[in-house]
Amino acid sequence: MTTAIYDKEDKLRAIHYPDRKLHKQQKIKGSYWLPMDDPKEGDVQGFWFVCPCGCSELYRIPVGMKMKPAIGWRWNGVYDAISIEPAVEITGHLKAKLTDGYWEIL
Ligand SMILES: [Zn+2]
Repeated sequence: MTTAIYDKEDKLRAIHYPDRKLHKQQKIKGSYWLPMDDPKEGDVQGFWFVCPCGCSELYRIPVGMKMKPAIGWRWNGVYDAISIEPAVEITGHLKAKLTDGYWEIL
């Protein structure tokens, strides 16, 4: 079984899945999937992530490549050292920051 990875000052590694089906099956805490069909700067797409709190819930938020859409987050455009800004907030449940491939619960 694959498990979550903590390898930087107790921060949770956001594992990138190129395979959407596998991502949904394994549901590793903090892991994510987003389309890799050659996005261009300014493109908005869905960022799917398994909640970093450990509840196994799958969430989707809109992210703009290297820009913040009116409703959504700014994605830095990379798949490994991924950053999403501003912090992700799930009302009444969680607030977390994703920076350089690591989650930090706020
Ligand atoms: Zn959660």
